[in-house]
Amino acid sequence: MEYNNLGKSGLQISRLSLGSWLTFGKQISDAQAQRLMEIAYENGINFFDNAEVYAHGESERVMGKILKNTNWTRDSYIVSSKAFFGNGGQLPTQVGCSRKHLFEACHQALERFQLDYLDLFLCHRPDKKTPIEESVWAMHQLIMQGKILYWGTSEWSAQEIMEAHMFAKQNHLIGPVVEQPEYNLFTRHKVEVEFSQIYNTVGLGTTVWSPLASGILSGKYNDAFPDGTRLGIEGLEWLRDKNLTEDRLVIIKKLAALANDIDLSLPVMSLVWILKNPNVSTIILGASKESQLIENLKSIEAQEKITKEVMNRIDEICN
Ligand code: NDP
Repeated sequence: MEYNNLGKSGLQISRLSLGSWLTFGKQISDAQAQRLMEIAYENGINFFDNAEVYAHGESERVMGKILKNTNWTRDSYIVSSKAFFGNGGQLPTQVGCSRKHLFEACHQALERFQLDYLDLFLCHRPDKKTPIEESVWAMHQLIMQGKILYWGTSEWSAQEIMEAHMFAKQNHLIGPVVEQPEYNLFTRHKVEVEFSQIYNTVGLGTTVWSPLASGILSGKYNDAFPDGTRLGIEGLEWLRDKNLTEDRLVIIKKLAALANDIDLSLPVMSLVWILKNPNVSTIILGASKESQLIENLKSIEAQEKITKEVMNRIDEICN
């Protein structure tokens, strides 16, 4: 495994990490979740991503139990939570990034995880109803109280991140160090264009999500719709419609041929392409099966197989 600083912070994060959205507490058994975390940890992954909204808090409960079962020392892993969507309740005070909700969401997450502190705590979306200054103060205070160590955002605009950063700087508060955007071969603008200046000016780190666009970049939807996969789950039709389009399938088939030419699997090639971006601190992998995680972990070793020329060919296919 490779490690790097999360943005300008001193936090050493593994370049691959493991997330729990739609899997922990939902699609897979708790035993399977434990097996995935064990494989990840044994292979050097040190960051596990979570959020209050995942399975309405159940994902954090499952992850917390696994952390207890495995008995890994607290200084050997990084765990996150994210607040904004709530954990089921939809009352006005139970969602958003107000001081009240951030404070309560943090305490609820700690209780579900059975932990004393979170390493990362993110505002899961921008909250148009809360002044950014209030969220910055709330996060700073949670750090001062020892409840969280670092904070950040997810799917905030560059302008919103800059506003938070400037306010923190002017008031000697601790600002955000990380943003969690979607990034894969089909969704690139934020990471490559919008944030291009603030990696250096602010020292922004990124923990990128849906690296395989919910599994379509594994190539398994190319010929027929397979059984027992995320995009067939009832209630996730919106996710299927967003990701599985005819245009994308045409591109994925060309990418699969290229991966075949260089002797890599399509998911590994798609992940290496992300790893080549130095502004990506960690790729949050998703997996429902052990074999998927084992395959995706190969991307670390496979980086040298993707030359500049192959990177250009990938870009030509996707543009
Ligand atoms: P991916 O795009 O990689 O999708 C993961 C899914 O794809 C797996 O659960 C599996 O689904 C399938 N898959 C993965 N690898 C393979 C493989 N090698 N072969 C075949 N199928 C494979 O990532 P996610 O969308 O899960 O995102 C990763 C993490 O990012 C989340 O767990 C979460 O922590 C975070 N996230 C954050 C968001 C935010 O707003 N901040 C939003 C979304 C995610 P299956 O087997 O069911 O088909």
